[in-house]
Amino acid sequence: MHDVTAAQQIARQVLVTAQEQGAGRVERISLALGAMTMLDPESLEFWLEQILRGTIAEGAQVRIEVLPLRVRCNACGFEGEAPVPDDPIYHLMPFVPACPECGAQGLEVLGGGECIVESIRVQRAEVGSADG
Ligand SMILES: [Zn+2]
Repeated sequence: MHDVTAAQQIARQVLVTAQEQGAGRVERISLALGAMTMLDPESLEFWLEQILRGTIAEGAQVRIEVLPLRVRCNACGFEGEAPVPDDPIYHLMPFVPACPECGAQGLEVLGGGECIVESIRVQRAEVGSADG
């Protein structure tokens, strides 16, 4: 997934959630980003700020928690975190994780593919405000 595409999806979700909560302003956005997504948190934050400009979420503080890749290996029974290479090539091709214990591929991915809005903090719109 591309950083810009991901940022657009997140921005949309933030604004929909904010609207549902009757927010006048979004103060903080907390994101969970799986290591498997290969998204760059800094780049994601940058694009998010650009996309949210001019919306009620403009200037919101963005917090990104990067979640490790967690796998289960059916070959040796390993269950835990697996390293994700920090290599730009995987922005172009899919990354296939290998078991840190036995090197087997075709692992069951338990977590690390997330790209979700965990929570947002909003300021409620002024009730009874004069301008519509
Ligand atoms: Zn294994």
